[in-house]
Amino acid sequence: MIELKNLCAGYGKNDVLKNINMRFEKGEIVSVIGPNGSGKSTLVQCCTGILKPASGEIIIDGKPISEYKEKSLARTVSYLPQINPVSSITVRSLVMHGRFPYLGYPRRYSAEDKEITENAIAAVGIGDIADKPLSELSGGQQQKAHIAMRLAQDTDYIFFDEPITYLDIKYQLEFAGLTKRLRDSGKAVIAVLHDINAAFTNSDKIAVIDNGELAFFGTPESATKNGAVEDVFGVKLIKSEFGQYFFTEK
Ligand code: ADP
Repeated sequence: MIELKNLCAGYGKNDVLKNINMRFEKGEIVSVIGPNGSGKSTLVQCCTGILKPASGEIIIDGKPISEYKEKSLARTVSYLPQINPVSSITVRSLVMHGRFPYLGYPRRYSAEDKEITENAIAAVGIGDIADKPLSELSGGQQQKAHIAMRLAQDTDYIFFDEPITYLDIKYQLEFAGLTKRLRDSGKAVIAVLHDINAAFTNSDKIAVIDNGELAFFGTPESATKNGAVEDVFGVKLIKSEFGQYFFTEK
């Protein structure tokens, strides 16, 4: 479990996150939603060790994040940023980079590292392009390669920052299927999503960040009774008799 206790964070004098208290548990998909600039990426960057909190605590599996060595944290938590570099290395080489936290010196991949890499490539369905350079692929294919790299990292906690924003519906649905398989295999999947429909359809829990505060944290079902999601987005939230969620004008 990742526990956030009174987490405050920001950039210099710009205080962004204010007193966040919440937890991410294994075997759950959590979608983090909220207006632009509300602090979603800041939250994810704190949980993945990229940004040091101003105050408060982040406890991962019972140990404060500050006590993790770099490699040990990278074996526990993975993170896919919003924007990823495009280079001329092949998809397979990129995915293998996910094994770095497990390598000693000199860096030599074991049979297990290679097997995990191939499994990650298969899990996102990019076996047919594994030998192609990243720079020759479409945006969606590149994104899949970056996702596969995080799967190869084989962490209990996986954070995605807007993984589907620029992808077409086919990739969006594939991503939803993948996160469910990861969740069912016992991992915690946390995704910052722009699309609140996708968030409500595909998540066990929704976290709403508004102006640096946690405005709501709970199941999609409980959000229909709470009102916070409707207030933050200025919409009406309805659950249909078939279990789907809809947003309409207030
Ligand atoms: P969101 O992910 O919800 O769009 P962010 O966490 O990216 O929001 O940003 C929250 C606030 O922090 C914004 O006001 C943004 O301008 C500011 N911010 C984000 N990154 C930086 C940075 N590296 N340096 C200074 N301010 C930043």
